[in-house]
Amino acid sequence: MEQTESIEKELSKAYSSRAPKNAEVIDQILALKDEKAKLLGFDSYAQYALETRDANTEADVLGFLEDLGDAGLPQAKKELAELQAFALKTDGIEDFAGYDMGYYSEKLKKEKFDFDDTMTKPYFQQSKVLDGLLDIVSELFDVTFKPADVPTWHTCVKAFDIFEDDTLSGRIYFDLEARKEKRGGAWMNDWETHYVDSQGKTHLASAFIVCNFSPTTDSTPSLLRHDDVVTLFHEMGHAIHHLFGTCKERSVSGINGVAWDVVEFPSQFLENFAYEEAILKRFGFHYESGEALSSTLMAKIKETKNYQAGLGILRQVEFSLFDFTLHQGCYQGTQIQDLLDGIREKTALLQTPAYNKFQHGFAHIFAGGYSAGYYSYKWAEVLSADAFFECLDEKDGFNKEKAKGYKAYILSNGGSQEMSKLYEAWLGRKAEVKSLIRLYDMG
Ligand SMILES: [Zn+2]
Repeated sequence: MEQTESIEKELSKAYSSRAPKNAEVIDQILALKDEKAKLLGFDSYAQYALETRDANTEADVLGFLEDLGDAGLPQAKKELAELQAFALKTDGIEDFAGYDMGYYSEKLKKEKFDFDDTMTKPYFQQSKVLDGLLDIVSELFDVTFKPADVPTWHTCVKAFDIFEDDTLSGRIYFDLEARKEKRGGAWMNDWETHYVDSQGKTHLASAFIVCNFSPTTDSTPSLLRHDDVVTLFHEMGHAIHHLFGTCKERSVSGINGVAWDVVEFPSQFLENFAYEEAILKRFGFHYESGEALSSTLMAKIKETKNYQAGLGILRQVEFSLFDFTLHQGCYQGTQIQDLLDGIREKTALLQTPAYNKFQHGFAHIFAGGYSAGYYSYKWAEVLSADAFFECLDEKDGFNKEKAKGYKAYILSNGGSQEMSKLYEAWLGRKAEVKSLIRLYDMG
């Protein structure tokens, strides 16, 4: 055991102290960002970034993150205590450290749930999942999908025309199976946008969803892991945000002009349904025997999603607070580490070793366009959780009346108004942090 532990520690140390020369680059990036914001008349980069976001003020973002951190803390403490007790019981680990986290988390997860995605895979036949998803979207939003006989770029691509009140309103293409020449991952892209041109002619929207699910073979149909089912729902959430847009102005119709910190709201909203028993049982049937997916497996799908959610939230709050505060001024040199240490006093339940230079590899904010924007993940997630519970009916899967409102206020208006304003117009209130806590079953 002695040996293993020192290897874990060594690896963790090497990994978390990598790229030391980035310290200098980070100073330069931060100074240039600060200079840019000031040239444009803003006090800081954070203030400049918020100009085009859904969040209005710096205090809104910080207040939101603090509320979220406070809400996640009690659960995170329980999760850590459970993990420490488990490490002590199984391997006699008394001084549980950060580098023990990954290993014991996985081991405990296995012991608690004894579940992995391959167990549900035979129950999610791609064609059935897609049909089920289209049925759900049809029922939720009063539309119909009819297979479209149109040219496509590959034989496995499926195209559907969308009708609202028997009137053609758009088209969607699904290219779901992995192929050798295809780019990896999953995404939705808009093709045409709904708008009315200067001659008064209405143009209809179209979009396509591309995934890399396991391909159909001679012996088996394309089968999805539950993760894939979630991905398909996620991308469909983006697609209907675009396809159900009714704005006349092209630049703010569908997903166009939607503030960057709320683009993931409609995708996460639909994704949440993919964990519900009432939804899964509509299409979860064994591809050979036709046997329905059991309640036990459906419960495990949800429980494993919620595993260590408190610790996950605290970690995201730490990253978000660090990123946002860092861009509120012009931090240089040791000030950056001091800032991070200060934030960790609230968010880190275990002491972070001094050699840890996490910030040197924080590519999201220094190389990936998320500067002063890392909070967006959770910002959009709160909206999606809150809207989800409004539209959820645990017996039938969803509340059709509420879903109508979601479509009319949130999906139809695209980027023509601020999302938070649309949200308040829909429900007469703001989205609440506690909905996210409920989504992870944290009380
Ligand atoms: Zn997305």
